[in-house]
Amino acid sequence: MTTAPHPAPADALPRPLVQSLLAHAVAGGAPAVEILAPATGRPIAELPQSSAADIERAFDTARRAQREWAKVPLRERISILRRFHDLVLAEQDAILDIVQLETGKSRVHAFDEVGDVAVNARYYAAAAEKLLATRTPRGVLPVLTRVEVRHRPKGVVAVISPWNYPLALAASDALPALVAGNAVVARPDNQTALTALWAIDAARRAGLPAGLWQAVLGRGSVIGGEVIGRADYVDYTGSSATGRTIARQAGERLIGYSLELGGKNPLLVLDDADVSGAARIAVRACFASAGQLCESIERIYVHDSVYERFVGEFVNRTRGLRLGSALDYSYEMGSLTFPRQIDTVTAHVEDAVAKGATVLAGGRARPDLGPYFYEPTILEGVRAGMTVYREETFGPVVSVYRVHSDEEAVEQANDTAYGLNASVWSRDTARARAVAARIRAGSVNVNEGFIAAWGSVAAPSGGLGISGNGRRHGPEGLLKYVDTQTIAVQRAVPIAPLPGMSEALWAKTMTLYFGVMKALRQK
Ligand code: NAD
Repeated sequence: MTTAPHPAPADALPRPLVQSLLAHAVAGGAPAVEILAPATGRPIAELPQSSAADIERAFDTARRAQREWAKVPLRERISILRRFHDLVLAEQDAILDIVQLETGKSRVHAFDEVGDVAVNARYYAAAAEKLLATRTPRGVLPVLTRVEVRHRPKGVVAVISPWNYPLALAASDALPALVAGNAVVARPDNQTALTALWAIDAARRAGLPAGLWQAVLGRGSVIGGEVIGRADYVDYTGSSATGRTIARQAGERLIGYSLELGGKNPLLVLDDADVSGAARIAVRACFASAGQLCESIERIYVHDSVYERFVGEFVNRTRGLRLGSALDYSYEMGSLTFPRQIDTVTAHVEDAVAKGATVLAGGRARPDLGPYFYEPTILEGVRAGMTVYREETFGPVVSVYRVHSDEEAVEQANDTAYGLNASVWSRDTARARAVAARIRAGSVNVNEGFIAAWGSVAAPSGGLGISGNGRRHGPEGLLKYVDTQTIAVQRAVPIAPLPGMSEALWAKTMTLYFGVMKALRQK
């Protein structure tokens, strides 16, 4: 691991900036908490917390604002998304600093979030009109029954987002909700609340009316119930365990929800793969945000015939990663975000080693760099019975396995309750696509790690199995925030026997009609 000297990381945000961002939070009724910069362990800000009364106030404001917002022409709502896109790109240095300070990640990984928000804003600005257009499907009696299907915003959407991709996961899920005519009450993680508040601030400056996107602040286990208890829809990103709690609470109220949960994502290197390309991209796919990425690769299955070559190159590249923290692009991997992350990573590696696994790279915490740094780590010889074999580490730890056929690789890849992301490497893309189709995951990247599928935001993204239900991105990522309403207008004659006609004759006539419609292949 290269650890060249670097400028001391800035670890405080200007007080006036913090105060101006906090104006978008409805909080203060509960005791404040201190937020520390993971890279240094030093305080960033005092964060006020929301009481039940604050949360109620936020929802009341949001409801009032939403009623007016739903009347605003769609084109006007879209133009705000376009301005938001430009602002995020133009002011990226400001938000990159905040993301880095709050998460400890390297700037290159923080930039992925800026890119994510930009492509989502652009996509939904371009797609919203078509997606929200009223449809006119055929009525029960052609010509006589005119049907239209309209879209109604859900109302107030709760976006409960975690700390690992705080800009992308707070903003990119809120934008389609807003453009569809909803208000959003965000509950960002305390650790990364200022990032979410910056996004709200930028949206306000892009023209979003007041009250439509506010944040409430607090630990999920403390205020989650208060938020879900008032929302019309819940968009949640986090662990599968918490996802179950959210689903129970939303189910109790019979409101809709979308859950984006954990993963134990596999990468398959087939015998004809571009081994160097696979090794290079695997490093990015395993260690982005120090592995604290739901899509990140934690298991690699390599065909026996290319195993030594792949592992050699992958280990070399991993050992060469520049590890450290600075508010610039000088480091390739940053810090973990919480003490509990380093505890989990340490426990997974120690358990594996105690049960016979070998560390090929990394395997050590690096307190010399900062309190929560851990080296990017590659394990070999991992077997069932080791914690890391099945459980999501959500840190910079990946296990490499030798396989002897595509069949075995697919079987191993599918040996998990998760199903979020996967990657397949082969020079024969038809073969790779066939393998991809057999992997039980919401997204599979061929000759890429995760960004090809994740960044293609016109296509849906989400999990199978315990990785969640519901989708973000694509039409699904917007249509989940609206209800459909069917309005049917019956013209000239009602759908009932004509005056004087017996019910029996009516039934016979309709039977004849159904037969004719089928013969004409009408829907
Ligand atoms: P976590 O479930 O403990 O916490 C995630 C967020 O949920 C936190 O902000 C937390 O405050 C909040 N929360 C906790 N209990 C809550 C409750 N009862 N009501 C409402 N909110 C509550 O998970 P974590 O370990 O902090 O986050 C990492 C997990 O998130 C990993 O499993 C990762 O894979 C997953 N994740 C998934 C995606 C995705 O898109 N699929 C993206 C990022 C992270």
